[in-house]
Amino acid sequence: MDQAQLEYFRKLLQDKLDDLLNEAGRTLEDMTELSDHFPDPTDRASIESDRNFELRIRDRERKLIKKIKTALERIDDGSYGICEECGEDIGTKRLEARPVTTLCIECKSKQEREEKARGG
Ligand SMILES: [Zn+2]
Repeated sequence: MDQAQLEYFRKLLQDKLDDLLNEAGRTLEDMTELSDHFPDPTDRASIESDRNFELRIRDRERKLIKKIKTALERIDDGSYGICEECGEDIGTKRLEARPVTTLCIECKSKQEREEKARGG
């Protein structure tokens, strides 16, 4: 991957990270809006599911933020775009779709098959 491509992905990741950090403070507000579209039979159930939903989203955001930071570090140390498993180029097409990935499509499919085989 050349310097221009690295800079392109650095910007992409940095923008995404900024978005996530800005949104972190608004999550609760969004949850209230979302729950209007999925009304629950009782208020109590609604509050419970909102809370679970929010926790799940926060957990996912936290993991994504961590992945983005790792990807930015990989850009800095020169390992970005290289598969962690086999050392091959991941490919810019796949990185555009999923800039935080650390595995090429072959290794990712293999990992998913193994996870399925383990029941997870
Ligand atoms: Zn690979």
